[in-house]
Amino acid sequence: MSASSLIPHLVADKVQQFVEEECIPSDALFRAQLGEGAQRWSTYPPIIDQLKARAKKLGLWNIFLSKTHYKEGAGFTNLEYGLIAEQLGKSLVASEVRLTFPPKAGNMEVLAKYGNDVQKREWLAPLLDGQIRSAFLMTERPVASSDATNISLTMRREGDEYVLNGSKWWSSGAGDPRCRVYIVMGKSNPTHQDPFKRQSVILVPAGTKGVTVKRMLSVYGYDDAPHGHAEIIFENARIPASNLVLGEGRGFEIIQGRLGPGRIHHCMRSLGAAEHALEWMITRVNDPSRSTFGKQLNEHGVIIEWIAKSRMEIDAARLIVLAAAHKIDTSDAKGALKEIAEAKVIVPQVSLAVIDRAVQSFGAAGVSQDTPLATMWAHQRTLRIADGPDEVHLQQMGRNENKRAKALQKKLEMQRNKAEALLRQHGIQAKMHL
Ligand SMILES: Cc1cc2nc3c(=O)[nH]c(=O)nc-3n(C[C@H](O)[C@H](O)[C@H](O)COP(=O)(O)OP(=O)(O)OC[C@H]3O[C@@H](n4cnc5c(N)ncnc54)[C@H](O)[C@@H]3O)c2cc1C
Repeated sequence: MSASSLIPHLVADKVQQFVEEECIPSDALFRAQLGEGAQRWSTYPPIIDQLKARAKKLGLWNIFLSKTHYKEGAGFTNLEYGLIAEQLGKSLVASEVRLTFPPKAGNMEVLAKYGNDVQKREWLAPLLDGQIRSAFLMTERPVASSDATNISLTMRREGDEYVLNGSKWWSSGAGDPRCRVYIVMGKSNPTHQDPFKRQSVILVPAGTKGVTVKRMLSVYGYDDAPHGHAEIIFENARIPASNLVLGEGRGFEIIQGRLGPGRIHHCMRSLGAAEHALEWMITRVNDPSRSTFGKQLNEHGVIIEWIAKSRMEIDAARLIVLAAAHKIDTSDAKGALKEIAEAKVIVPQVSLAVIDRAVQSFGAAGVSQDTPLATMWAHQRTLRIADGPDEVHLQQMGRNENKRAKALQKKLEMQRNKAEALLRQHGIQAKMHL
């Protein structure tokens, strides 16, 4: 193994140590510093800046953009960074400190990939530096947003401005006092004959006149402060046309390009959470003070099976994600759509199953605030909906796989004909019925 191929492993080890020894022990303080009521949205926990400074000192700052596709990249492939990202999923503050908490990484990718030089200078540079935050605004309450052709916030061109009217919700990150820019998808060309060319993406500075955060939404009762998920109203908000990203009618191109590597990071963090849940479960079932019916928990066959299943499922899912990361590295996100979709669907299901077993092994304590398991479960559950529900990805995947039908029928027919000919050569008259 060459020295250069060892570097990611060394970084991954360093990240693991940083997460396990500094971030996980800081999670409780992070939660305590979030405070109560309005304070949760007006400040952010000081521990973040302390850990950020520490991450910078350790050389672990901003290493998520891949070297394969971005000149701003830190030098890792998506596969290498995937392995590093897994560690981040184990701790609440770890992703925050490393600047990769979704959807910010995807947002930075939008700007890095599609932004012009002015937009990059104004927004990407401070985002990369951690000075500001961003939110991605696509989903709308009035329409089924898993079909993005439904997105209907209006973007009407007037002179050198666009006038925006409508509403968005589930705008993750918009509750953070540091959030300065919204990446907004709207309908700019409602009559375009191609339904995939009706939407555009525009950069809207937070605080623009006519843009109001109406309320923050909860996730199974959690507010996810300090980022949160906002419902935002647009009433005649005037945005300079120069804030348009890539060009009019190119919204689909942008949302499709945005979700490649970002999904890999998501998935690997999910697996980090699952791995951490498994650690909690193993610790619990080996606690000698928790025996039932004359046996320690780890002596019950079903519980040992939970551990084995969890190990297998995490390892299998990790391979699927890394295969997707490798495909992105060797082609691009578009070339890896199938693999990315597989990872996007399978990983939250695996993480949920593992976390659920861990919760069960803790009994009532598992659903309380005394372990991180309940929060982890709630977070992982949302990943079966956020960035497109499972069913939409499965539909696309199933349709594509099904396109092989004609070729497979031909192949089976050829094999049947050959089998029948072979039987005839041996004097056997038989009709194959497949
Ligand atoms: C925690 C969280 C964070 C989020 N963050 C963001 C964000 O930052 N920015 C943003 O814009 N959005 C965000 N979202 C929104 C998310 O992307 C949408 O909720 C998702 O795309 C689904 O859209 P919808 O809620 O309108 O559901 P709908 O489109 O109404 O779909 C409802 C259900 O219908 C079913 N369904 C849909 N299509 C099919 C199909 N083809 N076949 C079978 N069943 C189908 C699915 O079960 C789906 O869950 C977030 C959501 C959550 C929960």
